[in-house]
Amino acid sequence: MKLQTKFLSILIPLILAPLLIVSITAHWVLQSSLKDSTHTQTQILTDQVIWAVNQSKQLARQYIAELRNNYVLSPELIAEELNTFHQLRPDILNIMVKQQDKILGTSGQFDHSQVVKNTPLSGAQLQLTKQQGFQLNVQQTAHILGRSEPLVINLTLPLVNLNKLVESSRRKSHVIVLLSNSEGELLTQEKSLKKLLPKSLIDTPAFPITWNNKNFMVTNAKVDDGLYMSTLTPTMNVTSATDKLNALLSYIAIVAGLISVVVLHKSISSLVTSPLARFQRHTQNIIRGSSSHINSLKRTDEIGEFARSFNDMRKHLLSTTEQIEELAYYDTLTGLPNKVTFIDTIQNLIEKSTLTGHQLAIVFFDLDNFKHINDALGHETGDTLLMEVSTRLKECIRSHDVLAHESHKSGKNNNSMIARLGGDEFTLVLSKINSPEEAAKVASRILQKLAVPFNIGDNELFISASMGISMYPKDGKTPEALLKNADTAMYAAKASGKNHSRFYDSKMNKPVLERIELEASMRSALANNEFILYYQPKVPIFGETHFEFETLMRWNHAEKGMISPGLFIPLAEDTGYIQTLGDWAIEQTCRQIELWNRKGYKNVSVSTNLSPVQLNYGNPLQTIKQALSNFDIKPEQLEIEITESGLMQNEQHAVELLNQIKSLGVRIALDDFGTGYSSLAYLLKFPIDTLKIDRTFIRDIDSHPESLKVLESIIGLAKSLNLHVVAEGVETKEQLDLLLQRKCNYIQGFYFARPTEPQQAMAFFEEHFASDPQLSDVPPLKKVVS
Ligand code: C2E
Ligand code: CA
Ligand code: CA
Repeated sequence: MKLQTKFLSILIPLILAPLLIVSITAHWVLQSSLKDSTHTQTQILTDQVIWAVNQSKQLARQYIAELRNNYVLSPELIAEELNTFHQLRPDILNIMVKQQDKILGTSGQFDHSQVVKNTPLSGAQLQLTKQQGFQLNVQQTAHILGRSEPLVINLTLPLVNLNKLVESSRRKSHVIVLLSNSEGELLTQEKSLKKLLPKSLIDTPAFPITWNNKNFMVTNAKVDDGLYMSTLTPTMNVTSATDKLNALLSYIAIVAGLISVVVLHKSISSLVTSPLARFQRHTQNIIRGSSSHINSLKRTDEIGEFARSFNDMRKHLLSTTEQIEELAYYDTLTGLPNKVTFIDTIQNLIEKSTLTGHQLAIVFFDLDNFKHINDALGHETGDTLLMEVSTRLKECIRSHDVLAHESHKSGKNNNSMIARLGGDEFTLVLSKINSPEEAAKVASRILQKLAVPFNIGDNELFISASMGISMYPKDGKTPEALLKNADTAMYAAKASGKNHSRFYDSKMNKPVLERIELEASMRSALANNEFILYYQPKVPIFGETHFEFETLMRWNHAEKGMISPGLFIPLAEDTGYIQTLGDWAIEQTCRQIELWNRKGYKNVSVSTNLSPVQLNYGNPLQTIKQALSNFDIKPEQLEIEITESGLMQNEQHAVELLNQIKSLGVRIALDDFGTGYSSLAYLLKFPIDTLKIDRTFIRDIDSHPESLKVLESIIGLAKSLNLHVVAEGVETKEQLDLLLQRKCNYIQGFYFARPTEPQQAMAFFEEHFASDPQLSDVPPLKKVVS
């Protein structure tokens, strides 16, 4: 049932019922007041009748007493006396004196044939005569002195009052007064009423009758013993008044009902049902996704409140929907589109490119050291870094094309989009490009942008990225294939030294797969003793008092055989496994030194490589301290090799850490010197003992005089800073000779020895430098220089 119908079905009876009750009550009140007034009227009449009868009775008795007392009623004189008395009392109709039924005398007329009805009253008799109407016949016995038989005096008086009363009632108020005896027999002449007033009804106080087509209310009352009085009050007038009132009330009820139906209909509709219908429409709209607002806010009633709550709910719903959409399509941390949105966009761009004939580039990139930053500095710092990175990426892309996030939200088609796939992986799609070079340019711009250090909290963080680029349609036809190949290219970029971009090439698949396999088998490799340290001698050539080795790690893979550190070290750095592996290398180095010490070799020192990842994100100080306390070695027998790239990531941190390591007595070497950055500044800033000149300088000193010049100046610089100089990668006699002339302290290279197992490395030392049984301090260089 509709709300409107429900309301009306409740409210209309509520209005009509009181009106009905009022009309019934009015009817009832009028009826009862009619009864009351009839009753009162009857009562008055009855009282008057009683009074008239009693009055007459009393008068008759008084007359009889006068007759009896004042006159001696002698039989002879009776007739005369009666006449005299009668003349004095003209109201007496008839006097009669009897003795034993013998009439002694009469006065006046008394025609018994005139009597229509009579009824005995207490001590009297009421008679109705044709001419005189009601008469009262009183009879009394009088004992007269001297008379043996009592006389009976019979006196008849006209009941004038009663006659008048009956007459005037009928004339004035149309009330019919009836008198009846105890048998219910009427003393009046209205014979037709006989049937209407049965005896049984004499005792009934009031009842209605219809007589002569008129309605009467009959009221009965007892006047005397054997005399009852009934009054017939016409009720027609009163009932017609009440009927009119009833009709009026019914009319009012109907009109009020109709008006209230209309008014209620209007007001329910304007106050309740139409706002509700509006709410329903709005709800439907919201369900369909449109966000309409309800304008009932001016109302102060519950509907107004409901509308406000509804609007609040609508806003809440919209924001929740936005949030859900945000969660479904955007990355919560950076606000960049997520993978779902990204794939969707590539799909759209592919479709467009098919029409325009343009190429697409998918750039997949991964931050090189993000994992370590996250591990070392905490996720909060990691998250902040990712947000800052995404801000920079947005800036890069903005200049190239529309920024994806905004255009995606506005529903426009994008020409490019940058997205975050998760972790530190970001992707970029570039459309409408004409050649791969354009993509390479964007990639290099991103790399440049990321090269600027990030200041997060107290940390200055250096981030680089490895990027892989795949091209549509060359490298794939679907978003998934393009993404996968860009990912492969990114892996290849990582494997080949990070911080650069590479285009996808189908030949890349193999090494990338290998890399993934290696990554998986790395964890168990240490426990299986697959990692070993090789030792390469650093040959002292100018009377140095120490003989030195460098440890170089190897992975003796169960299936693949010996794997070069150039392959697995970057992998270990990417996965963070380098921390475990690096700690192991330091411990292993110290163990070896202790072993050699025990064997009696004098002044043997070993350098070991420390990854930039360890330096910046690990705790090498603790590892070194631990190793020094675990093994019986002198701190200066241990040297750690660090690279310039490791130092530049967070200089402040590196300076503090290296000073602490140095304070333990451990020496520090700067590896690969000359390949990197502002080398001179580093030499002054960091507590360095040894400079290892990179192989690239040594490689062509015999063929390129400029290289020799650079070498000379590096050696000169090192000497002036009191640093040991080690020349790496010496392979030929010519290179050696040139270095000998330039007084390099140590020579490291295949010319003397390749990295080998410790026993073999030590065999080289014994053979050339410690041939005497004492394993002397300063081995001669005869053999070397000859
Ligand atoms: P690096 O520290 O510069 O080590 C020297 C590299 O030059 C070694 O390569 C060594 O075998 C090679 N080498 C030595 N003499 C010659 C020569 O005369 N000619 C040529 N062509 N090469 C020579 P390797 O063993 O393959 O190691 C490569 C790099 O891997 C190392 O470069 C170092 O950066 C890293 N690495 C090796 N072991 C470890 C390690 O235990 N920890 C860390 N963090 N890195 C290591
Ligand atoms: Ca090294
Ligand atoms: Ca080196």
